Amino acid sequence: MASAQFSQYKDLIAEGDLALIWISRGNIKAVTIDAKETFNTRYGSFPHKDMIGKPYGSQIAIRTRGGTGRFSFVHVLQPTPELWTLSLPHRTQIVYTPDSSYIMQRLGCGPHTRVIEAGTGSGSFSHAFARTAGHLYSFEFHPVRYEQARLEFEEHGLLAENVTITHRDVCEDGFTIKKGDTTSQEFAEGGADSVDLNADLVFLDLPAPWDAIPHLDDVITKTDRAGVCCFSPCIEQVDKTIEALEKNGWSSIEMVEIQGRQYESRRQMVRSVEDAMQRCRDIKRRKVEGIEKKKRLIEQDRLDKENKDAAPRKREPLTEKSQFNPFGKGTRVKEGDPNFQWKQVTKIEAEIKSHTSYLTFAYKLVDKSRDEAAVQQYLDNLAA
Ligand code: SAM
Repeated sequence: MASAQFSQYKDLIAEGDLALIWISRGNIKAVTIDAKETFNTRYGSFPHKDMIGKPYGSQIAIRTRGGTGRFSFVHVLQPTPELWTLSLPHRTQIVYTPDSSYIMQRLGCGPHTRVIEAGTGSGSFSHAFARTAGHLYSFEFHPVRYEQARLEFEEHGLLAENVTITHRDVCEDGFTIKKGDTTSQEFAEGGADSVDLNADLVFLDLPAPWDAIPHLDDVITKTDRAGVCCFSPCIEQVDKTIEALEKNGWSSIEMVEIQGRQYESRRQMVRSVEDAMQRCRDIKRRKVEGIEKKKRLIEQDRLDKENKDAAPRKREPLTEKSQFNPFGKGTRVKEGDPNFQWKQVTKIEAEIKSHTSYLTFAYKLVDKSRDEAAVQQYLDNLAA
């Protein structure tokens, strides 16, 4: 069923909606709401009918199995391109939000932009383009992937809005969409036999973008500047892509990579000199205790060996749990505990999570001539 849930906000969860169920970070599942169905997880079963009528974002709770009196819960969210990217069925490598958002921003993607994307792959970036662009022309040469993406775009209401998907090897056959092609494009009876793509933004996520680049002149805008981004995982591909871009008259070529890290706002305990002294004393005490304990164990082992028939050794009682130590081990203190002093700090993830490919950007202005009359008029106005 086609729905416009990716482009229009909804307040309430309704029968037939595509909803994303957030089970945990990194575990989001897409479901079509059906009052007769139940959403099963290893934490328990959530009947869809409990979700219907509730606002999107609601927490749905159930008692866990085994009568422990505990609750399990999930959150039901309205789909967005960002959440879809995290939950979609992977048919290929996909473009993630740190890259897609940067590419769209850098190439100025907006409600009037006409975008070409090849290949469609799992349709991750297609959903982000569809929300922002005027029209998206997506191309995929793998027949099964093309059909799956076409079906998914239809179900998500994208084909009815601003997306066209075409089954095509763009490296061999270029980007022009004609009557008779395997495409979601509909041709009106008696109308034009081909589509004027007039694209101002091109995104190529292909193994050999250099073979597709020469075909772009036929489909990019002739009156404005067109921008292209090629997404390539290795630097040798970037090299070949830049060569092809230069050869085909693209300029202002730049390559970037996105290294995304999460910034987290945290509270950190404010420590005094006395705390530091306490910590040093604590380390020293533990060290001495450890050495003593080791000595005792070695001695005990020696005695055990001497007397094999000796009664089983009694385990030493564990050392008393240390008092709170703000620098290290000891009683756990909850972040923000009002018994201690805290300051607000920023923590950055050590690991870079978002680099998947290099992004090569370039621009082309096909018609470099200028409207002399308009220029003269402008100069006259300045002089007046
Ligand atoms: N950007 C996509 C996303 O975010 O889901 C992923 C694209 S995936 C890495 C690359 C896709 O390009 C594959 O599905 C592959 O079948 C398709 N492809 C490769 N060569 C192609 C060509 N010459 N013409 C059209 N599609 C092609």
